[in-house]
Amino acid sequence: MARVIDQLWEYIAVALGILVILGGVLLGLLRGRGGGSKTLPPPATTRDREVLPGVGDDAEEPRDQPKRSIEDTGSVDTLPRPAEPELLPEVEPTPTLERPEAPAGRLKRLRARLARSNSALGQALLGLLSRGGLDEEAWEDVEDTLLASDLGVEATTELVESLRSKVKVEGTTDEATVRAWLREDLLTLVDPSMDRSIASSRTEGRPAVVLVVGVNGTGKTTTVGKLARVLVAEDKDVVLGAADTFRAAAADQLETWGGRVGVPTIRSDRDGADPASVAFDAVKAGAEMEADVVLIDTAGRLHNKVGLMDELGKVKRVIEKQSPIDEVLLVLDATTGQNGLRQAEVFGEAVNVTGIVLTKMDGTAKGGIVVSVQRKLGVPVKLVGLGEGPDDLAPFDAEAFVDALID
Ligand code: GDP
Repeated sequence: MARVIDQLWEYIAVALGILVILGGVLLGLLRGRGGGSKTLPPPATTRDREVLPGVGDDAEEPRDQPKRSIEDTGSVDTLPRPAEPELLPEVEPTPTLERPEAPAGRLKRLRARLARSNSALGQALLGLLSRGGLDEEAWEDVEDTLLASDLGVEATTELVESLRSKVKVEGTTDEATVRAWLREDLLTLVDPSMDRSIASSRTEGRPAVVLVVGVNGTGKTTTVGKLARVLVAEDKDVVLGAADTFRAAAADQLETWGGRVGVPTIRSDRDGADPASVAFDAVKAGAEMEADVVLIDTAGRLHNKVGLMDELGKVKRVIEKQSPIDEVLLVLDATTGQNGLRQAEVFGEAVNVTGIVLTKMDGTAKGGIVVSVQRKLGVPVKLVGLGEGPDDLAPFDAEAFVDALID
């Protein structure tokens, strides 16, 4: 029995041996088909790949630009890209700067406005003088006409005397001749020889400093804004100082004027701030920015003469701690006649006025104020305001002015 069991174990061992050998042979065969140590095939070239061509893929020359997708070329209609989910910060639109009109020739453009309001003067004079046989009464009419134009008593007397003697000597009333006399005499009164230039260039390595004074309501702030445009048109670098800290909104008004032509405005954020300190800061900023000229608007509270002198005196002294003042422009409203002349007198005592700006000349027949104010202060009219438009401020030109009066 034991023998039988031994033989059975022998058969099982032989069968297991055969199974192991067969398994080994099978495994060997399978490995042989799949490849043992593999070498990777070379990478497929672009041409071998089945992909859509990028733009320029077929070009013979190597590309020198980054590869663009077909959408980027814009050569086919593509769906719009989905909007960026991120919210971009809001960007302030860059304001486009205005290009102001060149000052030369402005008075020519505006002459019609001057003539429109002052033609009564010229027409009346020409009518009277060419009538012939001028008696005392006629000469009185000439005088009244001149006085009504705010020429002033002194200048009127001079003009009438000169005309009377010419009429007497020449004995003619020919209109062209009379017009020529009138032109000549008015021109002498307006005085074309006066220096009407405005200090607006750097001197001794510092900007020119221009102080603009006048009663509120005369058009002072508007004039500073318009003057900035005149100077920008002359390629000057301008800085504005908003030292009218008493009138609410004056600084905003000035800043708006400056912003339109790219001129910075130095101001205080506080109403009622010390005007002298704003003026000081403006001059300092002008020097640091190496500007050509600093224009300073001031408050024109004509409460009383002492108050005005104190206020302007302080602004002046504080500015002069760092720079001399090159120009003081007095702004007068031409429509206010005698009242304007009284203001001129008061300001003339408070500060050393170097030039006059006559505003609102478009709305008055009182062109004679040019002569009377020049005589009162002994300084020239340098600019005239002839409207509310941004470029309606013109350098004063004696000849163009007189021509407009007698046209
Ligand atoms: P400020 O108080 O002296 O600074 O006066 P503003 O500059 O605010 O001007 C007062 C008003 O006068 C404004 O309505 C201006 O538009 C107007 N104005 C200024 N200059 C002229 C001018 O030459 N002609 C006319 N018609 N109006 C002017």
